[in-house]
Amino acid sequence: MPEIGFLNGRFRPLADTVVSVEDRGFQFGDGVYEVIRTYGGVPFQLDAHLARLEQSARAIELPNPFRPQEWKSHIKEGLRLAGYPESKIYIQLTRGVAPREHAFPASASPTVVMTVREMRQPDEALRLQGVAVITVEDLRWGRCEVKSLNLLPNVLARQQAQRAGVFEALFVRNGQVFEGATSNVFVVRDGTLITPPEGERILSGVTRSVILELARKEGCSVRERPVLEEDLTHAEEILLTGTTIEIMPVTRVNGKAVANGKPGTLTLLLNSRFQAFCSERSSCVSGP
Ligand code: PLP
Repeated sequence: MPEIGFLNGRFRPLADTVVSVEDRGFQFGDGVYEVIRTYGGVPFQLDAHLARLEQSARAIELPNPFRPQEWKSHIKEGLRLAGYPESKIYIQLTRGVAPREHAFPASASPTVVMTVREMRQPDEALRLQGVAVITVEDLRWGRCEVKSLNLLPNVLARQQAQRAGVFEALFVRNGQVFEGATSNVFVVRDGTLITPPEGERILSGVTRSVILELARKEGCSVRERPVLEEDLTHAEEILLTGTTIEIMPVTRVNGKAVANGKPGTLTLLLNSRFQAFCSERSSCVSGP
């Protein structure tokens, strides 16, 4: 099969996976989502992604129609049907189809959508050179830990980044830097790896957690504390993390070089530990 779609329990070609215009995901962005990728055909950190999906759904009082074991078997089947060497799995849950009223409908069952598409590795040249970012005002709502479909501020921030010819936009509010529009952010100052703490201002990234674990295992000094704009200015290193970008060194912020303008040594070390961690996971786990 080509690109795979899954709608409410049934697989079909992506082009035939369609939902009603009255779906609340379409009308209100009333839903949540997850993005998972494979290494060696094995979904990476699947339990963590499914746990976050459950937390996001609970946060908006949306029943998750599948238990983790059921999700795992649907994902396994989707991967089998798609047959790509590496896949990107997108899952979306919405509050279902109902006449357009803001309050929850009395009777609507959630819409469950999954797509499986080919995952292509991020451009290695970008990782070697590092990327540029800009800072933008954080206009998001107060529950950024929920992976909600409401991504308008993120869409606008990414558009601003694209217009500026840079890789990512970092959200800043009252002098604090929270995360990228689609990534978490870390800075290195005085040799300490620093990232904003979990809470309502950031999405708790699955990649972020792995990086923190790997850095601690490596004996690095690590702090989860607020990151200020001035930390960006004085950083020895800056890096972004995310499912599809993995670890991406940042070498320019708002047009100014970060330190000597080259990817830093801790970033490179963490990248090599991360690559090793991913290949271990892909070879020692037999499937979802
Ligand atoms: N922060 C935001 C706003 C994101 O959208 C994402 C990923 O899409 C991340 C962080 C990184 O999360 P993860 O590592 O789980 O992909």
